[in-house]
Amino acid sequence: MKSLLSFFARRYIAGVDKLEAIDVARRLNAQHISATIDNLGENVKNAADAASSVREYTGLLDAIKDSGVDSTVSLKLTHLGLDISTELASGNAGAIIRKASEYGNFVRLDMESSAYTERTLGILRSLRETYPNVGVAIQSCLLRSADDVKKLIESGTSVRLVKGAYKEPPEIAFKDKKDVDANFSFLMKELLMKGVRTAVATHDETLIEEAIKFTKAMNIPSESFEFQMLLGIKRTLQKRLAAEGFKVRVYVPYGPDWLPYILRRLGERKENLFFVLKNIFD
Ligand SMILES: Cc1cc2nc3c(=O)[nH]c(=O)nc-3n(C[C@H](O)[C@H](O)[C@H](O)COP(=O)(O)OP(=O)(O)OC[C@H]3O[C@@H](n4cnc5c(N)ncnc54)[C@H](O)[C@@H]3O)c2cc1C
Repeated sequence: MKSLLSFFARRYIAGVDKLEAIDVARRLNAQHISATIDNLGENVKNAADAASSVREYTGLLDAIKDSGVDSTVSLKLTHLGLDISTELASGNAGAIIRKASEYGNFVRLDMESSAYTERTLGILRSLRETYPNVGVAIQSCLLRSADDVKKLIESGTSVRLVKGAYKEPPEIAFKDKKDVDANFSFLMKELLMKGVRTAVATHDETLIEEAIKFTKAMNIPSESFEFQMLLGIKRTLQKRLAAEGFKVRVYVPYGPDWLPYILRRLGERKENLFFVLKNIFD
């Protein structure tokens, strides 16, 4: 089972080492696509593992600078100790963002399940008092996101808009996919009109076409937003948008702790699940 998942994972993961992620970023850059590199890992249980994650990220920032690739970094606060304490995760994130700031680079806080939303936004707010080079992801599946987006626009924070990859309780989230999509469309337009460096992060071609039509109709310059997609998904679309002159950034995950990320990708598409199940029984 592990080797089957590992075969499936190859499409979505750059490798286990940061230099493999740098190679993937370089290949994307050659196609006029930027990267954001993520060191896979989440829910660390002790401060030593969180410190090791900080070392990995500062090494990654060195590697990005030394190689000259066009890439930001993305990280999860539970990889930096959020399950242990807010202060620990905030201090660790601050150390990474400070290093990124020295290099003129940018850090995006991924958004994890709703158990972490409030604390992630709290840490973001306090980090932004010192560092402008940090933004966050917001999930259109959550009922609270319209309020969050409004506040993030007011504070000039860059938002990556996603649908949301975690199963959430019905009291706090839209139940139907069509409502998640409609909320994405609404928040996307708010952000495109009033936000800074908005990232429209979806593989949904209807929403991407809607973003293109909307920005043309409203005369929103293409430099003020970008499309983001995940490594291994809709590669032809990524290249087409880049060739049409849109800014495109691909999320490049790497590292040995790939299982939770791959299970989320599996759950997103029934064909992926069928692929794995079929090969188990073949
Ligand atoms: C750059 C980026 C960063 C992200 N960061 C976060 C984050 O911080 N927090 C968070 O909760 N979520 C994050 N996500 C994941 C996101 O929430 C969705 O789970 C994921 O993008 C799938 O939704 P979709 O918008 O592509 O739309 P969907 O409606 O799910 O998919 C649209 C189409 O895309 C294709 N597709 C989608 N997923 C897959 C897949 N796994 N394999 C193959 N094809 C697929 C299919 O053709 C599908 O029909 C991120 C996504 C991107 C692109």
